[in-house]
Amino acid sequence: MDTLHQIMLLCRPGFESECAAEILNHAQQAGFPAYINAKSGTGFALLVSPEGRDTLRLIEDIAFGKLVFTRQWFATGKKISELPERNRVPPLTDVAGQIALRLHRGFCDVELSYADTNEGKALSRFCRSFKPHMLTALKQQQLMSPDSGHRLHVFFTDSAAAWVGTSPVFNSAREPMGIPRLRMPPSAPSRSALKLEEAIHWFFDERAHSALFKPGMRAVDLGAAPGGWSWQLATRGLLVTAVDNGPMDEALMRSGMVEHVRGDAFTYQPASAVDWLVCDMVERPLHVSRLVASWFAGRHCTAAIFNLKLPMKKRYQTVLDCQQLLERSLIRAGIKYRLRIKQLYHDREEVTACLTTGHTLAHA
Ligand code: SAM
Repeated sequence: MDTLHQIMLLCRPGFESECAAEILNHAQQAGFPAYINAKSGTGFALLVSPEGRDTLRLIEDIAFGKLVFTRQWFATGKKISELPERNRVPPLTDVAGQIALRLHRGFCDVELSYADTNEGKALSRFCRSFKPHMLTALKQQQLMSPDSGHRLHVFFTDSAAAWVGTSPVFNSAREPMGIPRLRMPPSAPSRSALKLEEAIHWFFDERAHSALFKPGMRAVDLGAAPGGWSWQLATRGLLVTAVDNGPMDEALMRSGMVEHVRGDAFTYQPASAVDWLVCDMVERPLHVSRLVASWFAGRHCTAAIFNLKLPMKKRYQTVLDCQQLLERSLIRAGIKYRLRIKQLYHDREEVTACLTTGHTLAHA
């Protein structure tokens, strides 16, 4: 086969250039010469090695968790076009076989995917019905091996064309296409509740989750109304102070888990330190970052999840600026921290940040 000389990166449609700039930055830092093939609105970007160099090593060396704008990725070769309508499996398993030879192992899983666009989503039923055929053929050719640690990806752009590639399971998204299956809880006051649920699910595994969100812990939710994020915390047994001039959901307030403070999030200060700060305000991202940094520097909280809105043009640079501001403030305050930022599936023109410190790190 031709080498796995490209990396396919799936992202939110409209964020291809941020996804591209970010991976180029990481490739450059790793000393890997590359260029990008990306078109706005397609929901993906391709990193290409001009010398045809293999990207398998690169995809293991760059920590997937550090990529803000990439939902899923895999190393791949040339696009396979003109798949015969009645016999698509053989050309795809041929390439899978060549990748397995290159890896010296088979695949523990197969992810059939498509872009998160209207065109892409029209392929979802096709992918569902095609997957069993693909799996049967891969098993017959002994290309499946449960503990291989590598996943096979087949990314369709239409039912006759696909990229075939592989990603290391330890360094890629757990969920197919990086999209979690979350249902809107009927009693949640707003759809924003899904953002915080996805953030918790993304940033923490089960063990950390139960250690970090314990009944009786205290949280402050800045810009809380109508209360989707407060609801997520209260549902986990946390006592929440919700700061917002707007009205909170009445049923949530009747739960007795939430205290509503009508006031300005930029001047509010808790009487004593709390475990969690969460914040989902439509405000300038640097302004929010400064506010969050001041909570940590003042030892008002030990962990935070907050949203950074990105309505501006220079979205990637803004994220880098916020990251730098937060890191500098925490270092200056002598705080051991871990900062992660991700554009989650439920994020629109925004990204979500998670900041944990020495007190919480042991579990995060
Ligand atoms: N996370 C909420 C939920 O899950 O329901 C939605 C929050 S909504 C996107 C943003 C909220 O921030 C609005 O209710 C707005 O009143 C509030 N807000 C904006 N600026 C604020 C400020 N300076 N102080 C307090 N609240 C503010």
